[in-house]
Amino acid sequence: MKLTFTCDCGNEVRFFGTGDVNEQGMEAVDLEDDDRLRVVVGDAGLILQCKFCNNRYAIDKSLNT
Ligand SMILES: [Zn+2]
Repeated sequence: MKLTFTCDCGNEVRFFGTGDVNEQGMEAVDLEDDDRLRVVVGDAGLILQCKFCNNRYAIDKSLNT
């Protein structure tokens, strides 16, 4: 397991490493259960939407810059 998302409502979703490494040396991660979380790439960055309560969270692409 690589990453765990926990919504305020308690919905917890894990991302696991697929073992597939791309040409930049980055391993792809995939959702354990895509009925619980929606992941969308928007203009501003990455958007995570809880499918239980519909709360949305944005990871701004300028994060860490
Ligand atoms: Zn939620």
